[in-house]
Amino acid sequence: MMAPEGFQCEACGRFFVRPEDLRGHDTAIHATPRTPLCLCSSCGGSFDSLFQLEDHRAAVHSGR
Ligand SMILES: [Zn+2]
Ligand SMILES: [Zn+2]
Repeated sequence: MMAPEGFQCEACGRFFVRPEDLRGHDTAIHATPRTPLCLCSSCGGSFDSLFQLEDHRAAVHSGR
């Protein structure tokens, strides 16, 4: 029972060892992503990762 480790493409389910491999695959194969990975609930902006979203929130929506 070996679970596949790595980064899974949400569009087609393929696994990649490195995040940059997934990014390259997503850009090359799925040029137009159907669903953004991370959406800002405040302004509707889409981001590739939760880290970018949190970084955006801290920079743009820093108010309490
Ligand atoms: Zn894919
Ligand atoms: Zn925002």
